Amino acid sequence: MDSLPFTTERTPLTFDVIIAGCGPAGAMLAAELRLHDVRVLVLEKETEPVSFVRIVGLHIRSLELMAMRGLLERILEHGRRRPAGGFFAAIAKPAPEGLDSAHAYLLGIPQPVIVRLLEEHAIDLGAQVRRGCAVTGFEQDDEGVTVELADGERLRSRYLVGCDGVRSTVRKLLGVGFPGEPSRTDTLMGEMKVGVPQEEIAAKVAEISVTHKRFWLRPFGEGVYSVVVPAAGVGDRAEPPTLDDFKQQLRTIAGTDFGVHSPRWLSRFGDATRLAERYRVGRVLLAGDAAHIHPPIGGQGLNLGVQDAFNLGWKLAAQIRGWAPETLLDTYEAERHPVAEDVLDNTRAQMELLSVEPGPQAVRRLLTELMDFDEVNRHLIEKITAIGIRYDFGEGPDLLGRRLRDIDVKQGRLYGLLHRGRGLLLDRTERLTAGGWSDRVDHLADPTAALDVPCVLLRPDGHVAWVGDDQRDLDDHLSRWFGRPAG
Ligand SMILES: Cc1cc2nc3c(=O)[nH]c(=O)nc-3n(C[C@H](O)[C@H](O)[C@H](O)COP(=O)(O)OP(=O)(O)OC[C@H]3O[C@@H](n4cnc5c(N)ncnc54)[C@H](O)[C@@H]3O)c2cc1C
Repeated sequence: MDSLPFTTERTPLTFDVIIAGCGPAGAMLAAELRLHDVRVLVLEKETEPVSFVRIVGLHIRSLELMAMRGLLERILEHGRRRPAGGFFAAIAKPAPEGLDSAHAYLLGIPQPVIVRLLEEHAIDLGAQVRRGCAVTGFEQDDEGVTVELADGERLRSRYLVGCDGVRSTVRKLLGVGFPGEPSRTDTLMGEMKVGVPQEEIAAKVAEISVTHKRFWLRPFGEGVYSVVVPAAGVGDRAEPPTLDDFKQQLRTIAGTDFGVHSPRWLSRFGDATRLAERYRVGRVLLAGDAAHIHPPIGGQGLNLGVQDAFNLGWKLAAQIRGWAPETLLDTYEAERHPVAEDVLDNTRAQMELLSVEPGPQAVRRLLTELMDFDEVNRHLIEKITAIGIRYDFGEGPDLLGRRLRDIDVKQGRLYGLLHRGRGLLLDRTERLTAGGWSDRVDHLADPTAALDVPCVLLRPDGHVAWVGDDQRDLDDHLSRWFGRPAG
């Protein structure tokens, strides 16, 4: 164990981890920590969950994470499946055949619904969530973190994680830099009903979108459309946009406002692109938008934050349970910072491709042609959906560091064996053992498993930590990721 359960100061160490913010990243992290019996408190400044219904896209890797924790069926009930292709810079190309996933689609789902489902999951597993509690300060010492709330209450925990969004109080108080580019181009986005027939809209949109790439009206069913228009010339950035602003912009670009009415929600977003310099300072960590921000083109922000939480959860739990190898917690930043850098870069590229200038439009036409090559299309889709990620675990076969798809195993599906968030030794040789690590790592001997290597060791996040067939080599890798054997 890394510290005593109580400090000598006045405030007891009541929690192992306090999470600031109950958005998608905070709720996911709380659930992951609870799988390992970590005492978690989530502090959320809002008294009620947000009510506006922004539809977000869950991409393939996030759907796989949900499957790995037994949540996918519940989530699918609330969303709409769509084809996985067409997301890179909104270039309308279908996904290539045979994407390497059992869940090769996009799920459109309202953000508040995904947050509620993740929060319920965390609470079912035993997390405490306190609403109406804003974190306003903290101090860390050798044993833990004292967290101060807006009403002056002080709480102690061993670790604090800032999942408190782009304006993160935790990041600012930590003094971690957030370098990057400020917003230059604003866009209006909202969902509303329209007053003209679908065919009329489709024809007009097809005509205009040849040149205006930051413009679309897409039907969502029941007469509701997702509307995107440039915000150039629309008043005060600090004020929320109005339906009149949308009408005005639509008239400017399309010559008609399509009779839009009855908005569900209206928002304005910029293209600020920033990345936290560090994800960890001592006992305080950052995840989700608190650590990175980029324009929503490609629909990656929520996915990235949930995947940060999935990467961090088991490592922080291992630290608290006392079995983490010395450098395990630092691998969170080492693995996730480069992933965010790559997402920031691909959104920068996508924003350029939406420009109305002739140069970027020519590049867009060229890229559209290149995407007819299967490899190019596949590469871009694997990037956006995060199934192409390969963490740097050192020299080894291509599978090392990648996530493993949901393959068939003798008990059903692989991901069905990962619900408890433990490691897994998937062994086609039937002669290896997880030995002294069996309290942390399950062992499935299955010569029929759909693998083309003898054996893989999976981390709790489903990434391949080892490939081989030699017990001594396996033991070294079990130590590397799961610490010293028990007993
Ligand atoms: C128009 C638009 C469309 C988008 N579409 C997509 C999409 O299709 N796909 C996608 O993946 N992403 C999309 N995103 C991005 C996505 O919404 C964000 O990346 C995601 O919400 C980040 O989750 P988070 O948990 O890190 O932060 P947030 O969702 O911002 O949650 C942070 C939480 O912390 C709370 N909080 C803040 N300060 C404190 C404090 N001091 N103490 C306690 N609590 C605090 C907040 O109230 C909030 O509940 C879109 C964004 C926009 C603007």
